[in-house]
Amino acid sequence: MKKKFALALAAIMMTGTLAACGSTNTNDNAGSTADNTTSGTSAVEAIKEKGEIVMLTNAAFPPFEYLADDGSVQGVDADIAQAVADKLGVELKIVDMDFDSIVNSLKAGKGDFAAAGMTITEERLKQVDFSDEYVTSSQMVVVRADSDLEGDKDALDTALSGKNIAVQAGTTGDWYAGGDETTGSTIEKANVLQYKSATEAALHLANGKADAIIIDQKPAEAIVAANDGKLKVLDTKLTDEQYAFAVQKNQEDLLAVINEVVAEYKGDKVDELITKHMGA
Ligand code: GLN
Repeated sequence: MKKKFALALAAIMMTGTLAACGSTNTNDNAGSTADNTTSGTSAVEAIKEKGEIVMLTNAAFPPFEYLADDGSVQGVDADIAQAVADKLGVELKIVDMDFDSIVNSLKAGKGDFAAAGMTITEERLKQVDFSDEYVTSSQMVVVRADSDLEGDKDALDTALSGKNIAVQAGTTGDWYAGGDETTGSTIEKANVLQYKSATEAALHLANGKADAIIIDQKPAEAIVAANDGKLKVLDTKLTDEQYAFAVQKNQEDLLAVINEVVAEYKGDKVDELITKHMGA
């Protein structure tokens, strides 16, 4: 009796040891049950069990995300995210937060994915995984309508050096204004005014506190449209960027579902959504 029990115990302990080995050696081990939060198959299963998928965003980035009159978050990203939820047969819940909190919140498990007009960058890739890209964009310069600022990228970088540049905090535009080499910027010693939203940045450009805003293309156009004649966006593209949805590392199955939806939307369908939400 005693011997049998001891053998059984040894067997259990061995299985335990083996399972532990497996999970440390292969992070994306689809069959592993050792770590439910990061294993390959469990992300989609967990979402289906909850009956809900949670999207993290910053709803101040039209046409990709903005607050509608009824307080709901609308936009290109919300529409694509809805298609992801539909594919999984679950409800979509959208959590609105500061843009510069999104990556950390995702890492902390406060949402299942981020959809926020987010550019794929080396820095972010160290922390999260990205889906395939669904939009290409650029950083653009927005100035007051009477500004004579113009020129190619290098001329603008030179002209913007030492100036007051308004940005949305934690964005690629913020890094570009700060002269971050990874963005291709050659701006030197600018006074970077970091705001929580593009709307705030626009306000401070309009009232003269800032000389320019550096921000993504479509939001730049949306800001100009919303400030009837007071602002304009320059033609020069400062960067080439790709937007993608972000997920926690090692959630291959969720990433695969998102990529299926992205493949459906990329191109014409995304363009239609951009037009629809630019008008809204
Ligand atoms: N595309 C930019 C970035 O990823 C800005 C995104 C945003 O402000 N929502 O940093």
